[in-house]
Amino acid sequence: MFFHSTRNSEHRVTLSDVIAQGIAPDGGLYIPDELPQFSPEDFAGLTELSDVAVKLIAPFAQGDALAPVLGEVCRDAFNFPAPLVSLNGTPGPASVLELFHGPTSAFKDFGARFLAASMERIRKQQSKQRKLTILVATSGDTGGAVAAAFHRRPWVEVAVLYPTGLVSQRQAQQLSCWGDNVRTFSVHGNFDACQRMVKEAFADPALAKTHDLSSANSINIGRLLPQMVYYAHSALTLWRATGQPANFIIPSGNLGNAMACIWARAIGLPIGEVVLATNANRTIPDFLSEGEWKPRQSVATLASAMDVGNPSNMERLRALYSFEDILKQITAISISDEAIKARIKHDVQALKQVWCPHTATAAEVYWNLPAAQQAKHWVLVATAHPAKFNDIVEPLIGHDLAVPPALAALLSLPRQETEIEPQLSALRTELQGAI
Ligand SMILES: *Cc1c(COP(=O)(O)O)cnc(C)c1O
Repeated sequence: MFFHSTRNSEHRVTLSDVIAQGIAPDGGLYIPDELPQFSPEDFAGLTELSDVAVKLIAPFAQGDALAPVLGEVCRDAFNFPAPLVSLNGTPGPASVLELFHGPTSAFKDFGARFLAASMERIRKQQSKQRKLTILVATSGDTGGAVAAAFHRRPWVEVAVLYPTGLVSQRQAQQLSCWGDNVRTFSVHGNFDACQRMVKEAFADPALAKTHDLSSANSINIGRLLPQMVYYAHSALTLWRATGQPANFIIPSGNLGNAMACIWARAIGLPIGEVVLATNANRTIPDFLSEGEWKPRQSVATLASAMDVGNPSNMERLRALYSFEDILKQITAISISDEAIKARIKHDVQALKQVWCPHTATAAEVYWNLPAAQQAKHWVLVATAHPAKFNDIVEPLIGHDLAVPPALAALLSLPRQETEIEPQLSALRTELQGAI
């Protein structure tokens, strides 16, 4: 299968190049020339995530060097579960899709692990001399997931840049506890400054001479394809049990997670409605109600991993569908910080269920559905473990949260990081000094 850029349908490459490049040379995003078609019966007998992954991703790898090693890549990447847990005490049938059982307790572990596993095979096939250097600017969750996924892989160095003081305590710990081939830079600036430094590093001739730079950006197809897998797996589970499609409510920021769900439905998985829950960053809900695409500065909210004012995956959706078709594909609802807090407080009492601030947006959307809608089977997508955001959640629920073992292991490690000024020259000095 070939992929092309959203900005130029003539530029066509196969999966390895799509993953290695991340973004097309013209600045566009890669999309597949056509989507494969499946029916639920094609997955008969497949119950493991990794088996569903191989079946689902195989057509996307067809004709590419990753095709013969796809089984290995999927077993490496999908080594933790995505359980679908029923939610009791709600007006209609509802479940929670728990995507936080990976090494850094957020759904981004799925994408990061698949990306690392496939880049490892691509790298082996190319027999490159120089190590790859992955640069990531993070507002919190991405950096930890990428560091965990690439840690101690001998062919790669990782540099994580995060804004000093602007992530939660536990996120800062998860960003800085790695060492070995991962270097963490605490940047005296905001997230935009981190992102600018990474962009400038890619354009810097001096760094190009000494480093083979790559990114692990969330618009990489290598992160989207594995995210389809847990939608397929959970929708098939419900389909087999009830013969009904699954309807998903997805906490959304950059739209990477939701895009994967939309694709899983488009290729034939039994998925009904896809509802996006956003925080106070309302670019997508406004677009759907007004018809005009107006990206803007992001505003800070309690669901900080969704603080995105210019969701980059929207370019994919708009390249694939007309506005009228997008309206048929998704709805989107914006949830305020006040409503997030009230929902966390209420559901710990009513349902004995603790949400992270991101997942709380999905729960709030669920409770606000019209009664007729609530009769359908809804799946609330839990994107992070609440203990990762204990500083927000614990005061609302009035007690401490148990820390999952993977997170506890990281919290006990010493922090290793370097503080730097928000300039490319500072980053360059650090990277080149390490040669
Ligand atoms: C990244 C993130 C989101 C938003 O996902 P997108 O793919 O950017 O829409 C939601 N919740 C958590 C916990 C995240 O880390």
